[in-house]
Amino acid sequence: MATTTTANHAEKAEIFCRDEARVDWHSKALWLLRQKRDRAASSLPEWEELRELGSEYKLHTLSHLGEYLEQFEANCIKQGIQVHWAKDGAEHNRIVHEILAKHQVKKLVKSKSMLTEECHLNPYLEQHGIEVIDTDLGERIIQLNKQPPSHIVVPAIHLKKEEVGELFHEKIGTEKGASDPTYLTRAARQHLREHFLSADAAMTGVNMAIADQGAIVVCTNEGNADMGGNLPSLTLHSMGIDKMVPNMEAASVLLRTLARNAIGQPITTYSSFYHGPKPGGEMHVIIVDNGRTKALKDKLLAESLKCIRCGGCINTCPVYRRSGGYSYNYFIPGPIGIAVGAQEDNTNTTAWACTLCGSCTYVCPTKVPLDKIIAYQRRLKAEQGTLPYGKDRYMPIVGKVMGSATLFNCAMSVARFSLRNLPNAMLKPFSGAWGKYRELPKAPKTSFEAWYNKNRSE
Ligand code: SF4
Repeated sequence: MATTTTANHAEKAEIFCRDEARVDWHSKALWLLRQKRDRAASSLPEWEELRELGSEYKLHTLSHLGEYLEQFEANCIKQGIQVHWAKDGAEHNRIVHEILAKHQVKKLVKSKSMLTEECHLNPYLEQHGIEVIDTDLGERIIQLNKQPPSHIVVPAIHLKKEEVGELFHEKIGTEKGASDPTYLTRAARQHLREHFLSADAAMTGVNMAIADQGAIVVCTNEGNADMGGNLPSLTLHSMGIDKMVPNMEAASVLLRTLARNAIGQPITTYSSFYHGPKPGGEMHVIIVDNGRTKALKDKLLAESLKCIRCGGCINTCPVYRRSGGYSYNYFIPGPIGIAVGAQEDNTNTTAWACTLCGSCTYVCPTKVPLDKIIAYQRRLKAEQGTLPYGKDRYMPIVGKVMGSATLFNCAMSVARFSLRNLPNAMLKPFSGAWGKYRELPKAPKTSFEAWYNKNRSE
């Protein structure tokens, strides 16, 4: 579902960047996760082997996806699981609503699921009179704050504990001014416990679907998916077709890298395997395409479907860390958000929210070539004639200049001369968004090539 926003990435990032203290704190918090990830990865001698295996398992599954989906469906049915197929978000929502309406569900507890964000399920169900309670702590915080997730693993990372304290005071009656995380977490647990006990149905996302078992794997650190999955007798589980893995071996490889790469934890506290409904209950799995088979037809875009949504690429991204999750014009931010969502961005700017530094590709546990995909998304925008304003005019000129040593050297001579001799006020307008918050660089006297020839060439 395409976004309808008109604000581009730079404009939205500028809103986030107005609060410099928050930007610094946000960047440091995410870098801490990256450091934990590095420690966890380096503690396993076989880490690179696991990445390679993870990538190969995912590529193999994607190239035999039809067979594995059919095998999964057949094994689910054997175990009494009801399987539904949805071609897009609208069909997914309709199927979910039909199941809930049949059982006269008034309240649904839901654990974290980026797919339901993708399908805009919550507002759809609320329009149909069904109360949806997000039960992951971070998700509940942003739901109470009427915000979407700003990160796929830590959805409320943009909020400080004092802000959460204020929100909880207003919405769930905690003490005014209280911001102790343990106190707030206990209060949230109590608040959610009441919803678990009074819910008519539960819904979870799916981290992996195991074809030869007809089982799904759901990973959480809070046990909220298990509370939901084990209390009401009606459970629903939504998954994209890309969540398929062939067998337990593949699932265990991905499980070993998922939490390590996300937050530096050996494994999620709860890694639950669901094989069938409770006695007398119903278990439904809704399998969603929503553009994934289209991506599969493109060799490079297909690699984005190897993603296991660990969030590692987001934590390491220098642009995300300093521009915030709400600047991306897609429900998934950061490098993976650009890789899978750039075509949905009607401002055509999100594909440029990247320095192409490659840090994301370096950390990815399934070797998604994120930097290559992002560069490719830019090329697609150019081919579609949807380059952001200005780029369509000056990029062909930049291309010509950079393609010719003579033109490039001339341009650099002019730039050095201008930086040394003209006032900043005259030059700043040419530096665009980059120069808005930066000092212009000091120009060296000569080019690097001239300096090298004079000093080091012998
Ligand atoms: S692209 Fe890789 S690093 Fe990024 S969320 Fe997906 S699996 Fe994790």
